[in-house]
Amino acid sequence: MESIGIVRQVDELGRVVIPMELRRVLGIHEGEPLEIFIDEEAKRLMLRQYHTGCLFCESMEELSYFRARLVCQSCLKEIELQAMARLENAVTLESRGKAEIPEEAKGKQAEAIRRLVDVMRTHPHATKGEWARMAGFSPGYVSRLLRIIYEKGRLE
Ligand SMILES: [Zn+2]
Repeated sequence: MESIGIVRQVDELGRVVIPMELRRVLGIHEGEPLEIFIDEEAKRLMLRQYHTGCLFCESMEELSYFRARLVCQSCLKEIELQAMARLENAVTLESRGKAEIPEEAKGKQAEAIRRLVDVMRTHPHATKGEWARMAGFSPGYVSRLLRIIYEKGRLE
């Protein structure tokens, strides 16, 4: 965060005018909701455009927070399926000797990924928690394995 050198006074009703130029640059339109964030320690307020729907499809159904953004169940499932596809791809490539699996996922972890993918293949509709239980891993470890492939995997 940086100061842009604009100082505004709070009026008797607690209102502050956001300068027109700023609203234009940020695409904030009249009547749109803004979400207020507070950093109590730093005594700082932050405003952010409030999106009421899913970040990706704007759906209002079954929303949950994913890294501080609202995402619907169906988009979350799609992200998960894509992660799974990449995971399977990485494991397949590795087993063919074309090891494109990231450094972090070699050895013991590659073994764990293989076990996880086996469980996922046999129970494609289970939840992540159920996969973890069936593979004998903690849910956190399953998330970590998925993240390794999803974020760091360099595939063909
Ligand atoms: Zn969505």
